[in-house]
Amino acid sequence: MAQQEDVFKKIVAHAKEYGFVFPSSEIYDGLSAVYDYGQNGVELKNNIKRYWWEAMTLLHENIVGIDSAIFMHPTIWKASGHVDAFNDPLIDNRDSKKRYRADVLIEDHIAKIDEKIDKEVAKARKRFGDSFDEAMFRQTNARVVELLAHREAVHTRFSEAMNANDLDGLRQIIIDEEIVDPISGTKNWTEVRQFNLMFKTEMGSTADGSMTVYLRPETAQGIFVNYLNVQKTGRMRIPFGIAQIGKAFRNEIVARQFIFRMREFEQMEMQFFVRPGSEMEWFKYWKEWRLRWHKALGLGDEKYRYHDHEKLAHYANAATDIEFQMPFGFKEVEGIHSRTDFDLSQHEKFSGKKIQYFDPELNQSYTPYVIETSIGVDRMFLSVLCSSYEEQALEGGDSRVVLHLPAALAPVKCAVMPLVRKDGLPEKAREIVDELKFDFTTHYEEKDSIGKRYRRQDAIGTPFCITVDHQTLEDNTVTLRHRDSMEQQRISIADLHSLIHSQVSLNALLRKI
Ligand code: ATP
Repeated sequence: MAQQEDVFKKIVAHAKEYGFVFPSSEIYDGLSAVYDYGQNGVELKNNIKRYWWEAMTLLHENIVGIDSAIFMHPTIWKASGHVDAFNDPLIDNRDSKKRYRADVLIEDHIAKIDEKIDKEVAKARKRFGDSFDEAMFRQTNARVVELLAHREAVHTRFSEAMNANDLDGLRQIIIDEEIVDPISGTKNWTEVRQFNLMFKTEMGSTADGSMTVYLRPETAQGIFVNYLNVQKTGRMRIPFGIAQIGKAFRNEIVARQFIFRMREFEQMEMQFFVRPGSEMEWFKYWKEWRLRWHKALGLGDEKYRYHDHEKLAHYANAATDIEFQMPFGFKEVEGIHSRTDFDLSQHEKFSGKKIQYFDPELNQSYTPYVIETSIGVDRMFLSVLCSSYEEQALEGGDSRVVLHLPAALAPVKCAVMPLVRKDGLPEKAREIVDELKFDFTTHYEEKDSIGKRYRRQDAIGTPFCITVDHQTLEDNTVTLRHRDSMEQQRISIADLHSLIHSQVSLNALLRKI
């Protein structure tokens, strides 16, 4: 495990060094759990998004996309349950880095006092036998009287703090009662925070009455509230889906593990609207299809597993996660949920608008059921990065760091390199770049030795390097070097395009699903 943590640290450092992911606002010492994508990261990320978008919308004729705004009417979040769902007072232990509900810590503490009282009572009952008067014992036994008074005092303070929403008061109870973290055993607590995952902001100036709006914590609601628009204008017939890629924001209290848990992240979500009663069939379909999408990337079939939920949200009737083996264990990358008609019904209720589908085949109207597939772009990015990273020992004691990125996702598809910076080789190399650049992200590289240039491209996962040498000027052939095998082949310039295309095109990847 320690070794895996080491590797993870190296991957994070590599991501920064090679322009994939930077900590946000770094020159101001960063902003926790917020990251920026660099020149290579943005390309990889865009390719992941394109792979998802095209797989969903091109390969399924009954799925269309939308791009809804981040700001939405605040009642949407009331209807979806987000406003009321996460309002627990939370506290962190700085040593164990664990997060707790402050109210639960205090309730557990009170329960422990109760246990102590019960033990005293039980002991006395044993001692006195049939003549034991419990009520009298509770009123007169010094130890029990003391414990009861203590319990009562804590309980009163606790109720008052909860009713008054007094977070400092809650914390003070934890401090005064010397409540320790069950894991670290320490009392090194942070302050207590009221925890709603949603970020709030104000819309409109105060003069004309501002309104509190939220940064969306998921993109899904933008799809639900556009269900009628899309169904009507697109004349969509059930079953059909609506896909969306966009930013989501969650005020994660404990945010760790690099881009795995961020406060600003991106989601790729698809809501698939089906006839009530057919949802299990579609749930099965999407569960299988989404895993095929993952596996087509070739990151290693053994790195995936399903995690079926036993405990379901009140509105769901089936849910599973697709987990990926990260260096810190199997972790959720995607969720597939059967959400029944919960969301559309809630929006119908809160908006007062009829949100139904008239099914011409059944000659009846109903609220569609929904299967959701929801994947985080950043977690997907992390899984691709982690499984592609390799420190490879080479013959002769040499080594290299290589990213075995799926070629269709690689930020740069090919790098063209003149062997030397003279004799017309740079000009020839430029000619090749000018031809390839229309179809592939192509780098021109002339600095440093060829070996160093290869290493730099390996480190960002470029599948092909093309070297132009003196022979090129004579016969229009170049050396094509393959990233993973490091094999070099002599190939005619005229054949470059088709060979590279066959390996790096998204089309080829989509056909593998
Ligand atoms: P977790 O339990 O890890 O917090 P979740 O179950 O709350 O995740 P969902 O609400 O199902 O996540 O969101 C769907 C997807 O969005 C997740 O599978 C994940 O890929 C991504 N995601 C959710 N929260 C974050 C986050 N804070 N940072 C990055 N990606 C996230």
